[in-house]
Amino acid sequence: MNGEHKIMSSRRQRAALIYLRQSSMAQVREHTESARSQYALAGKAAALGWARTSIEVIDADLGVSGKWGVPREGFTELVTRVCSGDVGAIFGIEITRLARSNADVARLAEFARITGTLLIDPDGVYDPADMNDRVLLGFKGTMGEMELHVMAQRLQANKRAAAERGELRTPLPVGYVHDDAGEVVIDPDAEVQAAVADVFAAFAACGSAYGVVAAFAGRRFPLRAYGGAWAGQLRWGRLTHARVLGVLKNPGYAGAYVFGRYASRRTVDPGGTVHTAMAERPRAEWPVLIKDHHEGYITWPGYLANEARLAANRTNAGARPPREGCALCQGIIWCGSCGKPMRTSYHTERPSYECSSHRDLLTTPACRSVAAATVDDAVARMLLDALTPEQVALALSAADEVAGRRQRVSRAAELAVERARYEAGRAERAFCQVEPENRLVARSLEARWEDRLAALAEAGQALEAARDAQPPLPGRAELEKLAADLPALWHAPATSSKDRKRLLRTLIADITLLPGQQPGQVRIGIRWHTGATDELVTDRPIHSGTARRTPAAAVELARQLGPATSNDELARRLNAAGLTTGHGRPFDVKAVQWIRHAYNIPAPAPYAGGEIPVAEAARRLGCTTSVIYYWIESAQLDARRGPSGRLCIPWTSNIEAACRRRIAGSGHLNPAARRTRPRNRPQRHEAAAVTVGTARHDHTANP
Ligand SMILES: [Zn+2]
Repeated sequence: MNGEHKIMSSRRQRAALIYLRQSSMAQVREHTESARSQYALAGKAAALGWARTSIEVIDADLGVSGKWGVPREGFTELVTRVCSGDVGAIFGIEITRLARSNADVARLAEFARITGTLLIDPDGVYDPADMNDRVLLGFKGTMGEMELHVMAQRLQANKRAAAERGELRTPLPVGYVHDDAGEVVIDPDAEVQAAVADVFAAFAACGSAYGVVAAFAGRRFPLRAYGGAWAGQLRWGRLTHARVLGVLKNPGYAGAYVFGRYASRRTVDPGGTVHTAMAERPRAEWPVLIKDHHEGYITWPGYLANEARLAANRTNAGARPPREGCALCQGIIWCGSCGKPMRTSYHTERPSYECSSHRDLLTTPACRSVAAATVDDAVARMLLDALTPEQVALALSAADEVAGRRQRVSRAAELAVERARYEAGRAERAFCQVEPENRLVARSLEARWEDRLAALAEAGQALEAARDAQPPLPGRAELEKLAADLPALWHAPATSSKDRKRLLRTLIADITLLPGQQPGQVRIGIRWHTGATDELVTDRPIHSGTARRTPAAAVELARQLGPATSNDELARRLNAAGLTTGHGRPFDVKAVQWIRHAYNIPAPAPYAGGEIPVAEAARRLGCTTSVIYYWIESAQLDARRGPSGRLCIPWTSNIEAACRRRIAGSGHLNPAARRTRPRNRPQRHEAAAVTVGTARHDHTANP
């Protein structure tokens, strides 16, 4: 070997490091020859005089890309070991490619020079301390880099030229395969075809990627693995949201050939590590776009429409797609007063549109919130009036689309059964062909056959379930009848709010709400997609509290008659006038009492001529009301109960005089009368007892 004399015994006493690297997992998998020759280096180190025990292999970088700046553990370990000075030599397949970047190799060579470490590859032994070797290493490194550059350049140029002709083979999305001539054709597997076509059909029907995921619940979707151990193979799995987006955004399904849709972008973090990420280029920057390159699942305009629809679904980017709620103008209604969009609120049982400015405290005095039904009913009427026979025909074709979609669902299950039957047949044939003596193989083949039969039975059940799950569709004639009566179709319970909103949005661009001239009115501005505008004025609904209020006419009549009419009579008069309460019921005494209370209408005085109330009698006599009540209770004073239960006392001068006399004669009520009684001091106790007895007597019988 060249320069073998440079290996001195001092170096043989130190370790020999075999550094192995492969750039990617694909190289590790496919280029086993290279790996094998790298491991053979250990044998070479032994042949050059290193003890087996001091030969170490660093292969931690196998499968880690050597591109510039990617952190690589093994290489770091190599540098660390060299710096520690206990390495005699480094063995590599091509020493100038120890690292992909020349800077790394130069750094390693510099450390090796300082620590007296040799670099050995199949070409020979290099001593970095030797000026000639260092020049040679540097030169080879530069050449290597140049070589890589030229190769990459040529490859890229050829690749680009092939791509511009639409001939560069790129991994095909699921649903496409290369035929024997290398052309891109739709996958002949009918189940795969149906699954891919149904993704587009489901998106057309429901309008959202999550809707497609829901439509595929319980149904499998083909996936093609890009790279890895399963590269290029078709496997079946669940359809995820990301996959739906991948399918919808892939221009290949529209028959277009695209090269350079993604570009890698590099960034360097402050630690010097380079990060590479793939980013999608805008369509205008795609280097190659060949339309009608192969048969598409959808058309190019269809692809663009799907793209626009997906963009319109991105609520975090300000889009307001139609939602499931029943408020029809959700997403397209604006406050004409402040110019902000109106929010749809479902917080109460009656949905409403609310000006969104209130959250920013930017409401203007004319900003309103309005019950959704007020606007929706008026707008829906306008829309149904505007629909023409051509649009009805369009609706009919949409119905055909629905029927087609349902067929596709069961078609997928039928195809699954067909496939399961084929697999079972194949397993059966394999089992029949095996030699009876080969029992082990026969046993496993039999087990596989049984599995396939079970899968077939399962697929059959799934097909039946898919057929049963679908309620019968209305016939074409029935649909035509329905379509002729479009308002009925519009209001049919089977028509979802989302469908109504879609239909609305196909004709109406937006709706603006303006306060009406009258407080109870609202003006609705409709801007059609044609550019025409319409304005409607509609009444705002009466508040439920207001609606239950007593009619003004009844209150007015009660005000006129109330002060002089009894409750019974007033109820009769109100009913006779054909009036009802706020709840729509006829008036009764209770209702009249409520009106009197609510509108402060006095009842007629219950007292007949010459009658006075208890309080008045007490005032005139200068006593308390309890005295008057006592007299009435003990029948010393006449009184009658009025219609409302009040006591009415017939009052004459005679009665008043009698009452005054009674008071004057009462020691309890009149202390002066009590003091006129004679007092006898020696018989004080007896007199006191008599006074008490008298007083008690006075109080109970004759106050
Ligand atoms: Zn507003």
